[in-house]
Amino acid sequence: MKRCANCGAVTMGGDCSRCGMDAVAAQAKFRQSFANRTAVFLVGGLAFVVASGLYPPVDIDGMLIFVGILFFVTLGIGLWLERRAVRQLDIEILKRIYFGFVPVPLLLGVLLLGNGGLDHGPLVGQPTAVVGKFSMRGPWPGHRLVVYSWRDGQRYERISVNTTDFDLYTVGDPLVVNVKSGLVGIPWVAGVYRRESRGGRIVQ
Ligand SMILES: [Zn+2]
Repeated sequence: MKRCANCGAVTMGGDCSRCGMDAVAAQAKFRQSFANRTAVFLVGGLAFVVASGLYPPVDIDGMLIFVGILFFVTLGIGLWLERRAVRQLDIEILKRIYFGFVPVPLLLGVLLLGNGGLDHGPLVGQPTAVVGKFSMRGPWPGHRLVVYSWRDGQRYERISVNTTDFDLYTVGDPLVVNVKSGLVGIPWVAGVYRRESRGGRIVQ
């Protein structure tokens, strides 16, 4: 049994009874569609990284790990699909899985953009202090300040900051983290500033 590479209909060797394409045309159509969707997937991954930098969720590292795993699993499925298509093996199920996962990074990126960009809720300043800091290299470079957590059951938060803030603050600095609750309920960091302490009193 053979399936049309374009539409997935079962063929008897000749032209596809559903889309009318012969095997060569169907392969070409599949390759074009595969290339386009892979481009959407890669752009989506980039959009997610950009969005997570613009409106960094409080749980940014957990989210990056989740999307990172999803990204590489999808990429692996894509490569497997491509290999099978070259060898003219049945690709219908893999194609559906791959094409189903393709828009996910883009959707998550749009979700983060909407969550932060359309969030008109109040800023909540969370007083805390810097207990550590680190920079990351690799596919997702970034800077983190480790601060005491303001959430129940959580000891520290690793919040994403820009280079300026990263260089400005050092371990021990009293800090206020401005947190917004997010349009779709993903809390994100809108900025940080130094807590001033005057005459032994902490002034925000
Ligand atoms: Zn067909």
